[in-house]
Amino acid sequence: MAHRSEAQAFGPVPAATPGATIAPDMTPDLPSTRLDLALRDAARRLPGPDARHEAECLLLHALGRDRAWLFAHGDEPLAGSAAAVFEALLARRLAGEPVAYLVGRRGFWTLDLRVSPATLIPRPETERLVELALERLPDGRLLRVADLGTGTGAIALALASERPQAQVLATDTSADALAVARANARDHGIANVAFRQGSWCAPLAGERFDLIASNPPYIAEGDPHLAQGDLRFEPAAALASGADGLEAIRMIVADAPRHLHTGGWLLLEHGWDQGDAVRALLEGAGFADVATATDLEARDRVTLGCFSGPPPASG
Ligand code: GLN
Repeated sequence: MAHRSEAQAFGPVPAATPGATIAPDMTPDLPSTRLDLALRDAARRLPGPDARHEAECLLLHALGRDRAWLFAHGDEPLAGSAAAVFEALLARRLAGEPVAYLVGRRGFWTLDLRVSPATLIPRPETERLVELALERLPDGRLLRVADLGTGTGAIALALASERPQAQVLATDTSADALAVARANARDHGIANVAFRQGSWCAPLAGERFDLIASNPPYIAEGDPHLAQGDLRFEPAAALASGADGLEAIRMIVADAPRHLHTGGWLLLEHGWDQGDAVRALLEGAGFADVATATDLEARDRVTLGCFSGPPPASG
């Protein structure tokens, strides 16, 4: 299980003041390491295939610098204050905390997004859903789009930034997640997104959209993966959904026809082994052109369908 309340106690570690590396070291008795050597040592200490990249993210955060700066200054010493921040970050990473929560940010699509333990950490596979949605959103038209369970706002903000003429509604049950999503919209100056609190289609009451997208929770409760890796620290409500993982998807599919124009699209991210089940749900609810797209690892990941049935009364 993800320890949600425990995870919420954590937060990003404040970065050291930029320039700390070139300020005189306050602890002259300790030999200071060169930045590139500190990075190499940290990469050796962290486990997993991303150790080098993770170590670099944490070092850049500790320094308050970007990659280009580090590349040009690798032979400079790691000053005491930044060294202490870096060491604390490494210790927390070694204890399992996700890098994105430690630094408070994660890149998604073209956007550098704030994340918090109240939100899922955006994943690259969700960019596939964004691509498929954009293919169905012609540029320059006033379209209405909804992103259900927006978390950091990843899907909603990616679509809104690519389609400035579209009006995007982002929903989430979590007020804390919506606060993060709103801050992300503000940071990026994305004005064509509105936010509403509520579960799945409930905040869409009485309205219809041209496209509804969601990356809902889709892991089965009790799945051993929930007790592994980054998932331990992410909100349980963003990850797990009923005994078979399909509870949220069932609710969305059941209600979406009331909130789609005829010819409107529903796109759902799901687990690699849920393609058959999600296609069957969409077909049963009157969707046409139902298909499943694969992610970069060639696994079923996004199922979509066009609502072509007689529109039920909106509600
Ligand atoms: N829509 C967000 C994302 O894709 C959050 C999804 C979730 O919390 N399940 O990252």
